[in-house]
Amino acid sequence: MLDLTGKNALVTGIANSRSIAWGIAQQIHKAGANLGVTFLPDEKGRFEKKVRDVVKPINPAIFAACDVQNESQVKATFQAVADTWDKLDILIHCLAFADKEGLTGDFSGVSREAFSKSLEISTFSLANMAKYAKPLMIDGGSIVTLTYVGGVKVIPNYNLMGVAKAGLEMSVRYLASELGSNNIRINAISAGPIRTLASSAVGGILDMIHHVEKVAPLKRTVTQLEVGNAAAFLCSDLASGITGQVLYVDAGYEIMGM
Ligand code: NAD
Repeated sequence: MLDLTGKNALVTGIANSRSIAWGIAQQIHKAGANLGVTFLPDEKGRFEKKVRDVVKPINPAIFAACDVQNESQVKATFQAVADTWDKLDILIHCLAFADKEGLTGDFSGVSREAFSKSLEISTFSLANMAKYAKPLMIDGGSIVTLTYVGGVKVIPNYNLMGVAKAGLEMSVRYLASELGSNNIRINAISAGPIRTLASSAVGGILDMIHHVEKVAPLKRTVTQLEVGNAAAFLCSDLASGITGQVLYVDAGYEIMGM
């Protein structure tokens, strides 16, 4: 039985009701976990309001502003976890960013600034959050991050994010090797294309979805809730022997050669 009763879970990356992080939050909440969520603050407080409305049904114990480029906010988020719960069991890292210039046109045209910013937000943030989560996961734990097949194969326009995801997937392996002795597991889910705020920035996302609908063995793409189910499994004791892996939740698309 998939049971997360009594587990404390911090979920990052909810922007709106289409977010993959929201699909994950709903499924791990359904499995019995206590939830804390973060949001990306902006000057007018629009994201905060949006996320607050979306997460109302799960009534999170923690609601923290966390821009991963802001070290004091990251620190404060994990301090809130330590102040609220006696331990952390689950961390969901479900965020990424690339400027428009990194998601279209020639890959060689990407600027130094866009490259650094994307890798800092999308890749470095995983190791940085794992650093803060590690001492709080006193009974072991599970960390799950989100990646895409564009991190291992060339997908038109995915460009800079492909490099960020390649780094993210390798970070998962190095972190798994480090954290295993603390009984902390870390895995990535490689999701099929889903229409979200972030994916709409990738040139031709609808073409990608239509391509997957034609080519993938299941003749469709996946939903946020299907990704959420896989995340709940990876966070549960049913996955106690699995770490350092990339699990494809993509309707089988990745296996196809032609
Ligand atoms: P989304 O726009 O709903 O989520 C992206 C999140 O990243 C947002 O909540 C945003 O606030 C957050 N974010 C951006 N910059 C940040 C920063 N500086 N600090 C903190 N948070 C920041 O889109 P999504 O598609 O649900 O993306 C979630 C994850 O899933 C990403 O890692 C994405 O690459 C990955 N993914 C998406 C797809 C897809 O097709 N949608 C497929 C595979 C993997």
